[in-house]
Amino acid sequence: MTQARRTYLDFNATAPLRPEARAALFAAVETFGNPSSVHAEGRAARALVEAARASVARLIGVRAAGLTFTSSATEALNTVIAAPWGRVIAVATEHAAVLAPASRTGAFESVRVDGCGVIDLGHLELLLAKSSDAVGGGRKVAGGTLVCVQAANNETGVVQPVDKVVSVCSAYGAFVLCDAVQAAGKIPFDAAEFGVDYAVVSAHKFGGPKGIGALWTAPGAGIPAFIVGGGQEQGLRGGTQNVPGIAAFGAAAEAATAELGALDMAPLKADFESKLKSVLPDCVIVGEGAERLPQTVCAAVPGCAAETLVIALDLQGYAVSSGAACSSGKVSKSHVLTAMGVGDTVAAGAVRISWGRATAASDLAKCAAALAACAERSRHIERVA
Ligand code: PLP
Repeated sequence: MTQARRTYLDFNATAPLRPEARAALFAAVETFGNPSSVHAEGRAARALVEAARASVARLIGVRAAGLTFTSSATEALNTVIAAPWGRVIAVATEHAAVLAPASRTGAFESVRVDGCGVIDLGHLELLLAKSSDAVGGGRKVAGGTLVCVQAANNETGVVQPVDKVVSVCSAYGAFVLCDAVQAAGKIPFDAAEFGVDYAVVSAHKFGGPKGIGALWTAPGAGIPAFIVGGGQEQGLRGGTQNVPGIAAFGAAAEAATAELGALDMAPLKADFESKLKSVLPDCVIVGEGAERLPQTVCAAVPGCAAETLVIALDLQGYAVSSGAACSSGKVSKSHVLTAMGVGDTVAAGAVRISWGRATAASDLAKCAAALAACAERSRHIERVA
């Protein structure tokens, strides 16, 4: 029996391992020394860790000295948010890895977004103005306010104006944590130029392995250690480093940095969206009016259930994901689409298609046609049921 051809279009969930990362991973497995040991074997492992630190730092435009490796972006985000802040403010469309720890602080407020999913800067300023930090005349003080803003949204690809958020926050002495997980390696992202205080990235979103992330902390924005019991990672994150994971993270970062200037995926997205609109005239491109990632489309098909479309597409060889969150067998509306004011009927049919450098325009065109056929079948079943 011949294996059906598969087209993977779920890069925002995770990207396939890049060949450079695979090679670095296997090579580093053989470099068995403990990076904290002073002997030659330890120094060899340490060299891999430090080379990777420099590569990941380069990808996000920062100095390697402020970069700490963690087990994931989720851990890095929790590390910053768990510090003793007076207030934590987060954009309503942030990932659960931000919203869940922020809600636990007991001093959490949410910033509205507009219908395209872009932060309402006026609302942010209103929230900040309530804070006594304003008294500091823009001076950042430990235990003050933390504002969390993602560089790009995982469901819609909507890019936030991080530079503008930083300039509003600076006037009120608020620290800025930027979740750059979906932006890093996909669009230029320069944490130092934006002026954020903390930036978080994850290897597996741009071709590194799963289970390895990084937190960059700007000079003067130190936070307490989250995992104690070892002096690793400048004492901020105890535990012997995952050397193969880190080496592969570095190799993926190097490859992504080189690719950023060389590969323009925007025309592919424009073609795909125009194809979608021609085969499915009533489909809604979520966040269409906003700046979005060049490799993400959230397309909502009114009157269809996203989970039905995802399963039907999977059976036809296309791996995509739904915009709806499914837990304990119950499908609930995505908090991102809710925050954007997307109606229930449209949100229920939201499918996310996200791709990578090797995806061909013809694969996307075929996926659009398959989505239209699945939607037609699903609507027919609804009509006769
Ligand atoms: N932030 C965003 C925007 C994400 O998309 C994800 C993963 O889906 C995370 C954070 C968490 O990343 P990790 O899988 O490294 O914990």
